[in-house]
Amino acid sequence: MDSPAQQIKERLPIEEIISSYLKLIPAGRNFKAKCPFHNEKTPSFFVSPERNSYYCFGCGAKGDIFTFVEEFEGLDFRGALKLLAERAGVTLAPYNQKTADEKERLYQAVAEAAKYFEQNLNPDVLKYLESRGLEEKTIRDFRIGFALDDWRGLYQHLKSKFTDRELELSGLIKKIEGKTGYYDRFRKRIIFPITDSSGRVIAFSGRIFGEGEPKYLNSPDTPIFSKQLVLYGLDRAKESIRKNNFSILVEGQMDLVLSHQAGFRNTVATSGTALSDPATMTENVISNLSLVRRLSENIVLAFDADKAGLRAAERAGRIALSLSMDVKVAALPPDIDPADLIARSGADAWREAIRNSKHLILFMLDKAGDIAQGDGRKMVRLIREKVLPYVGALQSSVEQAYFLQKISDFSGTPATALKEDLEKIPISSAERAEIQNIPAEDSPPYRKDNILRRLLGIILWQRDLAESEIDLEKILKELEEILNRSSVDILRDAADSGEDWIFEAEVLYGAGDSLGRDVQELLYNLKEEYLKEVLFKKAGELEKAERERAPERSRMILEEINVINKEIEEIANKRLNHK
Ligand SMILES: [Zn+2]
Repeated sequence: MDSPAQQIKERLPIEEIISSYLKLIPAGRNFKAKCPFHNEKTPSFFVSPERNSYYCFGCGAKGDIFTFVEEFEGLDFRGALKLLAERAGVTLAPYNQKTADEKERLYQAVAEAAKYFEQNLNPDVLKYLESRGLEEKTIRDFRIGFALDDWRGLYQHLKSKFTDRELELSGLIKKIEGKTGYYDRFRKRIIFPITDSSGRVIAFSGRIFGEGEPKYLNSPDTPIFSKQLVLYGLDRAKESIRKNNFSILVEGQMDLVLSHQAGFRNTVATSGTALSDPATMTENVISNLSLVRRLSENIVLAFDADKAGLRAAERAGRIALSLSMDVKVAALPPDIDPADLIARSGADAWREAIRNSKHLILFMLDKAGDIAQGDGRKMVRLIREKVLPYVGALQSSVEQAYFLQKISDFSGTPATALKEDLEKIPISSAERAEIQNIPAEDSPPYRKDNILRRLLGIILWQRDLAESEIDLEKILKELEEILNRSSVDILRDAADSGEDWIFEAEVLYGAGDSLGRDVQELLYNLKEEYLKEVLFKKAGELEKAERERAPERSRMILEEINVINKEIEEIANKRLNHK
């Protein structure tokens, strides 16, 4: 009997899966496309139906339908498995044998909680939701629910099926401080389930019903939910983002739900205030936006015009620009958020706001004009502080020139003077530095981790067998060399997620006789990824040395780069000899 993963692979041709995400162009026996994992103008991403795999000559991305869906959707292996199993009509065995690990139990707990909240919706809450413009069908579709004004409603309901520890870990209950016992985290709140991109509920966001603080409460970070990485509604929006070739980014759950109801199914929301919260790492904002960018490079920001909303829009906008996205800002009337606009003025008003959206730089320029009110010196200062940084974030010098001309036309400042100012913008804040660190040809952050995870999964799995099919000692030694860490350390870090990784390894590599070769390939790939990382760092150092006119340093770095390039070449040769 084939493993579920193999059944899925047999039923779903790789070109069919990938073409549901990208436009594939026939190229002989293969297909090609613009790579979703790095920025490029001409296609170097190839899909081979014969080999059931894909490969990008630009960035080295490669794999099967599982890796593709994982990397494209930002899912873990189980998420990808669930999503593809549904498409293939393959039933996955319910997950509660001995291997039903902690994570799976947490998924089950939040799924049960979601049902419970839905059942608790009462006429009062429904009336309120309808007064905010929500239709009954929308409420059902989005599985909006209610947490009763009760300290232990949910806890009592789930107690017999889950342990206290599981319920606490899933963020559903909290310990009473200084005492024994637990209480519900969400009380007297309208509940919006948060799902990952395969549609699994992973957390909740609760809006207070009536009076109370705080107005919005989200699940804490849990083993299945990271606040920093989730875009609300992506699972429902992705089809429409691809089809319409743009996404709309709003702030709150209400905005999102109403925008969908108004016909804009390409809307996603930042969960809570993640983007405006300065504590949210730039790296995480980048991952959030990269997810959307893979679906379409065009994005419309529709944030409240309040201070926090504006800050979030500015930050997200700057980062999106530096990711080479086309960023527009919706034309919202002052002091009104998308939810209220739709509820009060209807879907047409929302459509107009989207249709009249303006490029972020022109939007900032207009705003500067409004504030300066004809004061020339003020205008110059505002342009330097509030507009030019965005121009600086643009990756293309052609685009930069275009906007400098626009700003020049608007303000009367010569474009050459603006260009000089642009070059003088100090590289001060950490954020700017981080943005500048985004490689123009960015490889997805997942790849190196994916490879390492699979290798460790295979090692942990084989180690537990009476007789291993592969030379574990030799593999661990190679890993030590690549990672420059002791195998004890490497394995200790892996132990936490061990069950998950073993599961993945068994499913992927369990029924075949090529494990040895697969492991070798994974090792090559991992080494390559590490070398590329070093290479990228060196390229940055070289640029700096040249800017600072330090020829001796430049020469040394160049030599180092040559050595690394040779090593990468060697790996390619070894690979060829192996085949
Ligand atoms: Zn690529």
